[in-house]
Amino acid sequence: MRLAFLGPPGAGKGTQAELFARRYGFAHISTGEILRDGVRGGTPLGSKARGYMDGGELVPDEIVVGIVAEKLEGIDGGFVLDGFPRTVEQAEALNGILRGRNGSLDAVIYFDVDEDTVVRRLSGRRVCGKCGWNYHVENMPPKREGVCDRCGGEVHQRDDDRPEVVRERLRVYQRETAPLIDYYKRKGLLERVAGDPPPEEVQEEVRRLFADRLGSRR
Ligand code: AMP
Repeated sequence: MRLAFLGPPGAGKGTQAELFARRYGFAHISTGEILRDGVRGGTPLGSKARGYMDGGELVPDEIVVGIVAEKLEGIDGGFVLDGFPRTVEQAEALNGILRGRNGSLDAVIYFDVDEDTVVRRLSGRRVCGKCGWNYHVENMPPKREGVCDRCGGEVHQRDDDRPEVVRERLRVYQRETAPLIDYYKRKGLLERVAGDPPPEEVQEEVRRLFADRLGSRR
């Protein structure tokens, strides 16, 4: 299956994409993770992207489209795009890339959450700098403070989860990304999932959507 996960920052796209992709053996492509890796590693991509990310702005379309095109080239089976597309231009570019491989998206899952939830989640979110796993200071802290349960990496707050950057990211989401909800609705691809419940419940809901098509794969 070829899926894209859509929603505001803090909707839980990353957690859901990781769980879903792992369970069904799909590739998980997170443009945010790829860009953060670039920033951490001081690569040319990272230095181009850093200023935009620190300010809560979108990285230019041609850069992220290039990343996704390259990633998809190496993938034969199913995939979950997490945080891409984020603009109508990116969505159009994705159509072109997939058309070139005689394919298209099967569905776009929109994680619908209210703004209070988003702000609460992002302000308490902590991430592992090594494996990227997410925690939350109140609901899901690591067993040992500051240390990732999964890989022992260091758990910290993302620079762009600071309150002033969060506000800008939400504005950018409304302006640039929210129009994709209607865009994919018109194409008959949009599936809405309530993103407010705890992650396990949301995951169950996502699985239910595809139970017919994925049931035998567990
Ligand atoms: P995320 O981890 O998905 O919240 O992404 C973190 C940051 O990476 C965003 O605030 C953007 O600056 C950048 N980014 C990630 N995905 C995209 C995208 N599809 N288009 C533009 N910028 C992106």
